[in-house]
Amino acid sequence: MILSRKNLSISESLTLAIDAKAKRMKAEGEDVIGFGAGEPDFPTPQFVLEAAKHALNNGMTRYTPSSGTLELREAICRKLKRDNNINYAPDEIIVSNGAKHSLYNVFQAILNPGDEVLIPQPYWLSYPEMVKMADGMPVFIETKEENFFKVSVEDLEQAITPKTKAIIINSPNNPNGCVYNEKELAEIAELAVKKEIFIVSDEIYEEMVYDDAEHISIASLNEDIKGFTLTVNGMSKAYAMTGWRIGYTAGPKEVIKIMNNIQSHSTSNPNSIAQYASTVALDAPKNEIKEMIQEFDKRRLYMVDKINSIPYLSCKRPKGAFYVMMNISKAIGKRWGNKEINGSLSFADALLESKKVTVVPGIAFGADSYVRLSYAVSLDKIQKGLDRIHQFMNELE
Ligand code: PMP
Ligand code: GLU
Repeated sequence: MILSRKNLSISESLTLAIDAKAKRMKAEGEDVIGFGAGEPDFPTPQFVLEAAKHALNNGMTRYTPSSGTLELREAICRKLKRDNNINYAPDEIIVSNGAKHSLYNVFQAILNPGDEVLIPQPYWLSYPEMVKMADGMPVFIETKEENFFKVSVEDLEQAITPKTKAIIINSPNNPNGCVYNEKELAEIAELAVKKEIFIVSDEIYEEMVYDDAEHISIASLNEDIKGFTLTVNGMSKAYAMTGWRIGYTAGPKEVIKIMNNIQSHSTSNPNSIAQYASTVALDAPKNEIKEMIQEFDKRRLYMVDKINSIPYLSCKRPKGAFYVMMNISKAIGKRWGNKEINGSLSFADALLESKKVTVVPGIAFGADSYVRLSYAVSLDKIQKGLDRIHQFMNELE
C-alpha cells in the first residue's frame, strides 16, 4: 500500500523529539542537562491559571466560533494596536491551536502547487515542512554569521521568480537570535509591495529582545505592506503558555476567511478555556513577562561569555529570542574516542553520550556548523551544562 507520497517526505520535528528525549531521560533519573528546550522554564502566571479556573467554573466549556471568541479577537486587536501599532478588526484575526497551527493554516491558505516561499537560512525547522505540506517549494536564502544571520534585501530580490509567493520573516529569530531594525524591515517591505509578495511575519518571540534591540512589526510600517502581511503571534513564549495551544494570525480579510474555512473543517475552535485565559492575559500588565526577560538576559550574557571562552567554540551575542547558535566548525574533524565529529549530528550525539547534555544539531535549521543552545534553562543548569561542554571540548582529539 502506498501511503501519502507528499507526507512521506515530511520529517519529524527534531526540536520536539530532542526535548522529549531530555524530559524522558530526566524522568528516568538521569542527570541530563537539556539545552534543547524551546519553551520558557517559568510557570504560567498565576492570574492566567485563575482565569482558566473561572472559565471552567462558569461553563465556558462549549464550542466557540471556529476562528475564536469575539472577546479574544477583540483583545488581540487591542494588543496589536497597543504593542505593535497596527489597526486590525476582529474579522481580520483568526485564533488557532498555537502559532505553529497559525503558520500551517497561512501556507494552506496562500499557496498553490509549485509556489515558492523564500526562507532565510538558518531557519526554524518547521517552515520548510509546512510549506511542503501546502504543496509549496521552500527556497532557502543563505545568511552569514558575521551579518548576525540577517538576510539582505539584495539577496531576497535576486531569489525572486515569477513563482515567489511569500517571504518568511521571523524576528526575533529562532534559532539565530537576530532582530531586524526598522530600516531593514522597511527595505524588505518595499520589495514585497513592489513584487506583490506576501510577508509571513512570525513574531512569536517579540517580547524577548535585549541590548538596544526593539521589536517592530513589519505590518505597522504602512498600509501597503499591511495588505501583504500575515502577522503571526501567540501566547506560548511571552506568557509561558506552551501547553495551552493558543496562537493567532492577523491579516487581509480574504486570507483570514480561507484560514477559517480550513480550520472549521479540521480542528474547529481552539480550546475554549485557554481562549478565555488568553483574553484575560492579553489585557493585563506585563509584570511577569518583564521579570522573565530580565532573567533570560542574565543567562544570555553568561552563556555567550562562557561559550567564547571555550577552546574551538564561539558564538555571536544574539539580540532576541532565547537561543544561541554555537559555532562548532573548529571542532569538525576532531575525534571523541573512536567517533569522528563530522557535523552537528555527530557533535550532538557524542556530547549526549559522554556528558549527558542535549543540544539541537544545526543541520535541523540548515546550519550544520552550529548547534543551538536554549537559555530557557536555569542559570545553575546553564553553568553546569557549559562546564560539561568545556570538559567535552578538552577531551576531543
Ligand atoms: N514560530 C517559531 C519561530 C517558534 O520557535 C515556535 C515555537 N514552537 C512557534 C512558531 C510556534 O509556537 P506555538 O505553536 O507553541 O505557539
Ligand atoms: N519552537 C520551539 C523550538 O524551536 C519548540 C519546539 C517546536 O515547536 O519545534 O525548539
